[in-house]
Amino acid sequence: MAQSVKGMRDLFGKEMRWFQRIEDTARRAFERHGYQEIRTPILEESEVFHRSVGEGSDIVNKEMYEFTDRGGREVVMRPENTAGVVRAAIQHQFFASSDPRLLYYIGPMFRYERMQAGRYRQFWQIGAETFGVATPDAEVESLVMLHDFLRELGLRQLEFSINSVGTPECRPAFHAAFRAFFESRAEAFCEDCRRRIQINPMRVLDCKNASCQAALEGHPLITDHLDEDSRAHHGRLKLLLDRLGVPYRENPRLVRGLDYYTRTAFEILSSDLGAQSALVGGGRYDGLVKQLGGPDVPGFGWSIGLDRLATVLQQVAGDAPEPEVPLLIPMGPRASERALVLARELWEAGHPVRLETRGLNLKKALATANRQGVRLALLLGEGELDRGVVAAKFLDTGAQEDWPLADLPNRLATGGRGWPQVTSTS
Ligand code: AMP
Repeated sequence: MAQSVKGMRDLFGKEMRWFQRIEDTARRAFERHGYQEIRTPILEESEVFHRSVGEGSDIVNKEMYEFTDRGGREVVMRPENTAGVVRAAIQHQFFASSDPRLLYYIGPMFRYERMQAGRYRQFWQIGAETFGVATPDAEVESLVMLHDFLRELGLRQLEFSINSVGTPECRPAFHAAFRAFFESRAEAFCEDCRRRIQINPMRVLDCKNASCQAALEGHPLITDHLDEDSRAHHGRLKLLLDRLGVPYRENPRLVRGLDYYTRTAFEILSSDLGAQSALVGGGRYDGLVKQLGGPDVPGFGWSIGLDRLATVLQQVAGDAPEPEVPLLIPMGPRASERALVLARELWEAGHPVRLETRGLNLKKALATANRQGVRLALLLGEGELDRGVVAAKFLDTGAQEDWPLADLPNRLATGGRGWPQVTSTS
């Protein structure tokens, strides 16, 4: 029997329910801030990632699904979406004016990763990008949106981990100090780090290896090498976060894995997450648009792993609420016709109802309903038709009462024995 490809899974049931709730909440939260959704293709020309994510990164070095298509084009299944969004924004001339552009995306990403808990080869990200504004104020606007979105989903133990990685101008001084530090204990670092120090020294800070993290004790801090503007920028970011009561902690080792970040870098570690790594990562990438062939437009953005977020929410809040859908069970041909018309009226009025269309007898239809956890069955037989009612049967208690057909939408909206079920957790 065919199985899904390793590292790629089907989404259904409880997990899918959380995905839907997260996506709905995200759209509401982001559109409230004036962000607009963008969807870019899954396949991009390889160059988009080689020129942005960077040759020194794990993603480009070992994780991309990269191949030559039938037309001989070098393509990549996107490992992240920021580069694609920037490519699209340049292509469609979003930057023809200097006005800010606020965009968000939701979609699958692909990385050929080593398998471990919470890591997939197809995973989902939600992200937001703010183009055209270089101020810390824009960063805080975006971070507050992210914070409030996660709170709306029910996460409470949230803390931003922040750092400044400076600008390309102030980095050489830091690199020199850091290289000197590294050389003094090079043998304590892993082989990857000895390679990283040549290509991009900051990546050493990002190494997941515990012995490398220990060897970093007392390393020079990038925040001690910031130019004046970057220091002022970082100071205002912290002041605004304080002002808004957004909890954060400074982490001088936080650098993010990608080449295009400047100044602010951040992650969210949720203590709800336990030992798993970050839930969200992002930062400022003022050089990226230009690097991809566009004008010199600043950018700030982040992305959150939907798979990991769904896992956390399942742990913290249990099952996502299911919408209650009553089952309409007609008995006999005349009732079946009437039931279709009735269901249509309910659907048009926005009421959920599922229709039993197999022409089963009542006993069998109710057995299905019970198996599927239906709480309310609406029975429509000859007797009910003659009286102009449906028999509303509550399967959890066994209680039954007649509801006049004309009053059905109203009853479904407002009740009769605790119907409808409250479906919101927030
Ligand atoms: P990154 O693009 O690497 O900064 O990742 C941003 C977020 O995407 C992470 O914090 C994770 O929540 C999520 N993520 C990254 N890679 C994976 C993966 N292989 N499987 C599941 N989630 C991932």
